[in-house]
Amino acid sequence: MFVVRFRSMQADGMALFPFILVKQPNPGPTLLNHERIHLRQQAELGILPFYVWYVVEYLIRRWQYRDHYTAYRNISFEREAFANDQNLAYLKTRTFWQFWHYLTNDGL
Ligand SMILES: [Zn+2]
Repeated sequence: MFVVRFRSMQADGMALFPFILVKQPNPGPTLLNHERIHLRQQAELGILPFYVWYVVEYLIRRWQYRDHYTAYRNISFEREAFANDQNLAYLKTRTFWQFWHYLTNDGL
């Protein structure tokens, strides 16, 4: 994992395999873990398919929820990352394509 600071970013963090881009110096463990979960998702799917899927699912969620932020939070990749980013041991036990379980519900 390589963490790169990128001040002019809109978001606090972004995963771009194999890099984690962060806006602020000294990002917290939850943010880093969140982006690490996205790196794992990207490694499993391939980077380009991940982003294509991400954008297509965002557009579907945007139509579903009629709201940008709600749509973003409900993308399956984000549901998985937000549900588990405070569990710093999550990636040790996570199973392959775990985001799939977050497509139709909150994954629980
Ligand atoms: Zn995220």
